[in-house]
Amino acid sequence: MEQNETNNNYHRELRAYRKAMGTCSWCGKSKVEPGKSLCIRCKVICKERARARYQNLPIDKKSELLEKKRLSRLENKAKGICYMCSDPADEGYVLCPRHREYYKERYKRSRESE
Ligand SMILES: [Zn+2]
Ligand SMILES: [Zn+2]
Repeated sequence: MEQNETNNNYHRELRAYRKAMGTCSWCGKSKVEPGKSLCIRCKVICKERARARYQNLPIDKKSELLEKKRLSRLENKAKGICYMCSDPADEGYVLCPRHREYYKERYKRSRESE
C-alpha cells in the first residue's frame, strides 16, 4: 500500500517534470506541442489501449460506463458547459465552439472517406 503511494507520487512528479520540459509524459523522449502531455505516437498507443480495455469489458460494465457518460453529459448540459472539456458551451449546445468545430470537421471527413 505504502509502496504504491510512493510509486504514484513518483509518477506524478515525473509526469509534471516531463510536462514542464515539454516532453511526452509517457516515453519522455519526444517533444510535445505546448499544452499537450503525450506525443503523437504515445497518444495513438494510449487510444488503442483504452479501446482494447473497453472492448474487453463485460457487457454490463460497458452499459454502466455508457450510462455514466450519458449522465455527465446531461449534467454538463444543465450547467451549460462542454461535455468534452468543461469549457463554457454555446447557448443551447452541449459543446464549446472549439469542440463543435472539431466534430463538424470529423463528420465531414468521415463522409468524405466513404
Ligand atoms: Zn511519447
Ligand atoms: Zn469543449
